[in-house]
Amino acid sequence: MKEIDQCPVCGCEVNNRVLICKDYLVSGNNFEITACAECGFNFTNPRPEDDELSDYYKSEEYVSHSESKKGIINRLFLMARSYTLKKKLKTIQKYSNGKRLLDIGAGSGSFLDVCKSAGYDCMGLEPDADAREFALKNYGLELKPIEDFLNIEENSIDIISMWHVLEHVSDLRLYFNRFKEVLDKDGRLFIALPNNESKDAKIYGKFWAAYDLPRHLYHFRQKDIRNLAEQYGFSLQAALPMKLDAYYISMLSEKHKHGKNKLVRAFFNGMKSNMHARRNDNNYSSLIYIFKQDV
Ligand SMILES: [Zn+2]
Repeated sequence: MKEIDQCPVCGCEVNNRVLICKDYLVSGNNFEITACAECGFNFTNPRPEDDELSDYYKSEEYVSHSESKKGIINRLFLMARSYTLKKKLKTIQKYSNGKRLLDIGAGSGSFLDVCKSAGYDCMGLEPDADAREFALKNYGLELKPIEDFLNIEENSIDIISMWHVLEHVSDLRLYFNRFKEVLDKDGRLFIALPNNESKDAKIYGKFWAAYDLPRHLYHFRQKDIRNLAEQYGFSLQAALPMKLDAYYISMLSEKHKHGKNKLVRAFFNGMKSNMHARRNDNNYSSLIYIFKQDV
């Protein structure tokens, strides 16, 4: 395990434990979240060493990779995904110019497949070799290993997308430096993240499924991601709700809490979360942040 002694957002060296959560998906072990004493950013601490992180992704239930149709939640997830994919495409079309798109953490390639059909020039990075093979077989997409991020030419990309991926990335500073280098001056950065200031996060506490320890290394609030991005010369253009996530995360959280599906209760808590967010500072369960570069 690796102890993090500096806040990944502000660099402060003091942090306090705020929550202990179980890894429900793979190991069954407990992990801790600490909060920075200065800026309040929450992060998983200690966390697995970088070369051990991949051990925590070995689960059939890790649906974004395996496309498993087993279980009602996975089936609902796949249905919702087709709706969500179109919505993501529309968001990109609305908020960016240019067609050179880089999707980081492309998973099984479903988002890039939709973008390719819409005329985008697509490049995808994905650490998991099985997922890359799936993308090639099913969509004819040649995703590259994540290390290739270091080889992408400067100013060669119009759009970078990371859909629920940045919270998994070990070295945030390396990523933001690269965003800046590879993006065209008029490029846009789309980052989707869970928000632990949402109502569903408050309702479920340590059972909240979007803590997803230890796979999620960081637990960004709106101010945290804005603060980090601003340090690299990015400014926020928009923060858009992902309303279906409130339902999906509530379903998983109910299962963590009670050991079985409680769909009706999950539905009401998802709705409660979305209604609360509309009235309270946009604190949805998940948000898409769109950043542009300062000139
Ligand atoms: Zn901090």
